[in-house]
Amino acid sequence: MKEYLGNEEGLDPSDWEETRALGHRMVDDMIDHIANIAATPVWSPIPDMVKDSFKEVIPKSPTDIAVIYEDFKKNILPYSLGNINPRFFSWVIGTGTVFGGLADMLASIVNNNVAIGDHSALYVDQQVINWCKEILNFPSSGSGLLVSSASIANITALIVARNAVSADIRKKGIHSLKGRLTAYCSTETHNCISKAIEIIGLGTEGLRKIPVNDDMTINIEVLKSTIKKDRDSGNIPFCIIGNAGTVNTGATDSLDELLEIAWQEKIWLHIDGAFGALAKLTPRFKDQLKGLEKVDSVAFDLHKWMYMPYEIGCVLFKNPELHKAAFSGEVNYLAAHERGLAGGPETISNYGMELSRGFKALKVWMSLREHGIEKYKRLINQNIDQAFYLGGQITQMEDLELLIPVTMNIVCYRYNPGGHSEEELNIMNKELLMRMHEQAVAAPSYTILKGAYAIRVAITNHRTRKNDLDTMLQGTLRIGKQLLQEAERMTFKI
Ligand SMILES: *Cc1c(COP(=O)(O)O)cnc(C)c1O
Repeated sequence: MKEYLGNEEGLDPSDWEETRALGHRMVDDMIDHIANIAATPVWSPIPDMVKDSFKEVIPKSPTDIAVIYEDFKKNILPYSLGNINPRFFSWVIGTGTVFGGLADMLASIVNNNVAIGDHSALYVDQQVINWCKEILNFPSSGSGLLVSSASIANITALIVARNAVSADIRKKGIHSLKGRLTAYCSTETHNCISKAIEIIGLGTEGLRKIPVNDDMTINIEVLKSTIKKDRDSGNIPFCIIGNAGTVNTGATDSLDELLEIAWQEKIWLHIDGAFGALAKLTPRFKDQLKGLEKVDSVAFDLHKWMYMPYEIGCVLFKNPELHKAAFSGEVNYLAAHERGLAGGPETISNYGMELSRGFKALKVWMSLREHGIEKYKRLINQNIDQAFYLGGQITQMEDLELLIPVTMNIVCYRYNPGGHSEEELNIMNKELLMRMHEQAVAAPSYTILKGAYAIRVAITNHRTRKNDLDTMLQGTLRIGKQLLQEAERMTFKI
């Protein structure tokens, strides 16, 4: 014990000048890194030695910060996901911005807990939610919450939708209901919805996965008849989950028809618009996504198509009372006071699951001011233009096949030189994609469409230019030809 007595310590630097100098170097290096990103490989495999370096046990004694930073540059930075590269098109992943990153640094250093108290960050958080409403032209009387992702935004919405069924649910659980709660979504709906439905106690069988039309949108007639069947058998249909931009192909369900059904059936309409909701900012989708203004709730990400650094998503609710009723609680240690530090707005934990929250609103607040919303509109539109351009190029190229017409920012295609079975094409395209990554040509991802392995290109990248897409197509053709030759020589088996 003795050694601790009278020997207080903290975590601030012992040498402020050393920390300042390193901080400056970090900023310089990171700005260089982004400025030169187009010239760096989109993806590099991680050497085993580097992987092994992450198996060391917890450090017991201090390491010089300059050494730690060198390790970051040597072992972490070069093996990044690649999503800040102009030729990254995998899954639906955002790019972030330099200023957004600097904003995150400020948020981290001031380290506000944006949950409770009376401090500026709470007001910035609220202003950003208001801006999110403006982005979607959502009613200003609605409420919202900034969360880490669309997955969390979606489950937050589904909790509110479930609790809106009966005032008894919070106390007695769903067992107090006379029938089984059922929700509806298309088979193309993101997996986070299934997870959310399971977690809120309905079981995946409580989620009716409605088949899709050829264009991957929900089949409205089947939806209607399934809801009727559920009602007839004593179940309680409570929520439809529609898509604004599906993850596989970017399909958007008919919001107008979903709204009509929800009104008629008096059930909640939630939209997963993780990235697609933002397409509402473009002239192309202005009308098609007008229905977003009338839905009960919508979830979307700001780290995907608003190009904010990870993590930030948002959920909006038409009815603030129902939103609050699902989460609020009277707890003596969180009660607001008339004045002083606890004299601020109501705790944000009354509107969601999280209590402690970081200052993720700051990067949105700073980025939207840096560029203005008009710039984001143009960029989202540019990404859609690029997807249509890519689709057009693929259609014109002999050995490439567009697997589904482009509707938003996602393009699914494959190498198909003719004369091969579906199975052979699947094997060939999977190999082709892996080589495209290994050779750092570009980084699209994959999906399966009607049994066909698809190279899937999702463009939510403000650094992409059309020539990056041309590079990817040339790479596809080159690697495809190579695979054919190897198949002939029996060095690659299809
Ligand atoms: C990405 C995505 C999600 C999940 O969002 P996260 O931010 O990754 O949690 C949900 N739905 C769709 C359509 C998506 O593209």
